[in-house]
Amino acid sequence: MNYNVNEKGYYGDFGGAYIPEMLYPNVAELRENYLKISTEYSFKKEFDDLLKVYVGRPTPLYFAKRLSEKYNTKIYLKREDLCHTGAHKVNNTIGQILLAKRLGKSRIIAETGAGQHGVATATVCALMGIECIVYMGEVDIKRQAPNVARMKMLGAEVRSAKSGSKTLKDATNEAIRDWINNPIKTHYIIGSVVGPHPYPDMVARFQSVISEETKWQLQEQEGREYPDHVIACVGGGSNAAGLYYHYLNDKRVNIIAVEAAGKGINTGHSAATSALGKEGIIHGSKTLLMQTQDGQITEPYSISAGLDYPGIGPMHAHLYRSKRAEFISIPDQEAMDWGLTLSQMEGIIPAIETAHAFAVLDIRKFNPKEIIVFNCSGRGDKDLDTYIEYFKL
Ligand SMILES: *Cc1c(COP(=O)(O)O)cnc(C)c1O
Repeated sequence: MNYNVNEKGYYGDFGGAYIPEMLYPNVAELRENYLKISTEYSFKKEFDDLLKVYVGRPTPLYFAKRLSEKYNTKIYLKREDLCHTGAHKVNNTIGQILLAKRLGKSRIIAETGAGQHGVATATVCALMGIECIVYMGEVDIKRQAPNVARMKMLGAEVRSAKSGSKTLKDATNEAIRDWINNPIKTHYIIGSVVGPHPYPDMVARFQSVISEETKWQLQEQEGREYPDHVIACVGGGSNAAGLYYHYLNDKRVNIIAVEAAGKGINTGHSAATSALGKEGIIHGSKTLLMQTQDGQITEPYSISAGLDYPGIGPMHAHLYRSKRAEFISIPDQEAMDWGLTLSQMEGIIPAIETAHAFAVLDIRKFNPKEIIVFNCSGRGDKDLDTYIEYFKL
């Protein structure tokens, strides 16, 4: 079984590029160039240097002593929350901005839901002095005021998407329209392992630095490169893809993916795509997504904005269908409780997205000798208002 993308842009049954004809040239330019450029020595050097001096990599692989004692197993945290801007997303935006520069692009567009990807994109545009336009649903602009302010401070223009439900999918439509109208000088930075081929593979490769580092860090600390389990939350799936990447073909490593069950899988208010999703097309790729009987995309729900997405990337759909990965969904309440537990047991306040992953410890039993690596995808500063309201802090 192959878990990486094939030459046609598919992961098993999923992936491909289902796009309007007017986007063919843009996507073809990317497809024909992304591997050649991103594997060149000069690209890799600039990417690695920026990850080191700007993002702050390598991020620590931290042995969580108190948590390990309580659950009687060996628990490590890959500290992506310590990346500049507070999460893993910047690994990808650094990679894509370097690629855009080499393709001669002078204008960047992106879409964002909660604003985290918008901030990561605005950050690298400021770093490179490149024009940045971020599309965001009108409703999300109101809900996510601090991130809108961050993007503006970083010099980005935030454009409001006023159609439909005025949320992420409408912002995506606006971004695609913009790209069709500006095919020559504009690059579209997608923020997760979603979208038409080559985006899922490209983003997974940029995020794969997470497992590349984990391998040598585990070697140093445990005398072997591989853990028994890797666990990550899945919105679109980029932080998970980064942690899984170098272990995909290593069957000694069990892969666990954690989705948001929201108010409960069967309440109509969830984002548990693997449990509820059916095959369909979203953002230009064939994957699993939550939809009605007649194929309309269902509005997802999760208390964490970053997991509030109606699909999963095609790599994850394939990991699910081929049973290479175990999928678990965690409701809001358990995730919120883990936000508090991780804070008070390890002194690490996680993003609510991240907190979902840890709830696996209450569901699955692990042996004392087993090594588990959790991806600590982001820090909780952005979620403080939600924590305050929920726990009446
Ligand atoms: C955006 C985000 C996620 C979800 O995105 P993926 O592409 O699934 O990684 C998870 N954690 C944090 C902290 C995020 O900001």
